[in-house]
Amino acid sequence: MSEKINIVWLKRDLRTYDHKPLHEAERLGLNYFIVYLFEPSLISQLECSKRHQQFIYHSIVCMNKALSSFNRRVYIFNAEATDFFDYIVKKFNVNSILSYQESGTLKSWNRDKKVKKLLDSNCIKWLEFENQGVVRGAKNRFGWDKNWHSYVNSPILENRFSLNDFEFKISAFKFCADEFPFLKEYPKSFQPAGQKYALKYLKSFTNDRARLYNYNISKPEMSRFACSRMSAYLSWGNISVRYIYKYIKSSSNYKKNKTHFTSFLSRLKWRSHFIQKFETDCSYESLCINKGYELINYNKNDWLINQWKVGKTGFPLIDASMRCLIKTGWLNFRMRAMLVSFLCHYLEQNWKNGVYYMANLFLDYEPGIHFTQFQMQAGVTGVNSIRVYNPIKQSKEKDSDAVFIKKWIPELSTFDVPLIHEPWKLTEIDLINKSIPDYYKKPIISTDLSRTKLIKELWALRKNNFVKEESKRILAVHVRTKT
Ligand SMILES: Cc1cc2nc3c(=O)[nH]c(=O)nc-3n(C[C@H](O)[C@H](O)[C@H](O)COP(=O)(O)OP(=O)(O)OC[C@H]3O[C@@H](n4cnc5c(N)ncnc54)[C@H](O)[C@@H]3O)c2cc1C
Repeated sequence: MSEKINIVWLKRDLRTYDHKPLHEAERLGLNYFIVYLFEPSLISQLECSKRHQQFIYHSIVCMNKALSSFNRRVYIFNAEATDFFDYIVKKFNVNSILSYQESGTLKSWNRDKKVKKLLDSNCIKWLEFENQGVVRGAKNRFGWDKNWHSYVNSPILENRFSLNDFEFKISAFKFCADEFPFLKEYPKSFQPAGQKYALKYLKSFTNDRARLYNYNISKPEMSRFACSRMSAYLSWGNISVRYIYKYIKSSSNYKKNKTHFTSFLSRLKWRSHFIQKFETDCSYESLCINKGYELINYNKNDWLINQWKVGKTGFPLIDASMRCLIKTGWLNFRMRAMLVSFLCHYLEQNWKNGVYYMANLFLDYEPGIHFTQFQMQAGVTGVNSIRVYNPIKQSKEKDSDAVFIKKWIPELSTFDVPLIHEPWKLTEIDLINKSIPDYYKKPIISTDLSRTKLIKELWALRKNNFVKEESKRILAVHVRTKT
């Protein structure tokens, strides 16, 4: 019998520090290999886009640089997980698979169930570790906060790597990056991927940028500098929640910028809180969190949806936000919420017609946050206040000097405030020797932005008995208790 080996299976944990499966693999002492699987059936899902794969690939390249001095690397395979492990267990004497738990969509749950069955039938252990304070199998939030705090306050794992002298020879499921040129061509307009950059961004936020956090968090242009920009690194696991928490708490700047850091750290907790909702019920990908809101009959309008998708609605801040998202993969929270509110409340479209589109665009796409936040902003949870963002008001308040609008809508860049916020008010005299697209003269919906039929319906449904029952269920399962 050949010698026993372990396999570390990476998912959304693309880093070499504060990494439990890698730490455990070293502790167990057997030869081990680190693998990442590009799984065709997951890549073809509506939620997945090329920019996600690019971020993953470059995160692995970054890991490999850190691992090379130990004669180690992440082996990438182009394979379905079940096919891969079926092959591996036949070819090698596998002791255990080590990974983090994944709070993913139904497709990834079903994949994991099949992998578990296969490993069980071959008497191979799958050591799955809790990830970022999210608790598997939690029926409610009793003790959840305490668990999260004990996670972030526990010691950071110091990953050390032994020198590897074993070759992992496998000819099947070959992944050749040259066959996927788009993977290598990482656009400069995206945040750079990988753990090296996660640490760089964390450092610059802690040492400098955080002093502006609370002031600028909702401003579309200034937030690009003042927010931490840790989201993509967290979503693909280039850094852990605990590492960020501890780094900030122990910073010499912590006291000086305490109010800013306190708001930031509470958002780190929200992160795990939202992912916990999805961990508990991943049907939120396709069904309203409050099933009572499935009763709404929408009038689907493909033209309106498409104008929203390409940033040609005629409302400058909406269009600037969408175009910026398409190009850079990042927007602040307020602009994300406003885009969803515009689609669902003013265009009166079903959230399901925009949710995958935006998931594809977010470089930081994280299913647990995305589907739950999207629904919250769409107003279909029954337990949160329905916030309707008026894009004209947001434009005047959050981009008062129109720097963001001018940057992303060159067609409007020669106009000034206040008219740039409402270009349909430009007169013939303002437009002498100038031209603007028709949708800025006549936006796709009325500019009075009055309460739509749908907004009224969302509020009215709150009195519906089924919605009320569902709200009770949601509160019992998802609301955090102090203990
Ligand atoms: C419709 C919609 C979809 C969203 N989809 C995603 C997504 O797919 N992935 C994602 O990471 N965030 C998502 N968010 C939450 C939020 O907008 C981003 O986390 C944030 O803008 C990322 O920028 P940052 O890292 O600079 O945030 P910071 O303000 O610096 O916050 C630090 C971290 O806290 C977490 N966080 C911040 N705000 C929230 C929040 N409201 N809910 C949960 N966690 C939060 C993130 O991990 C973030 O990186 C979504 C919000 C909305 C309204």
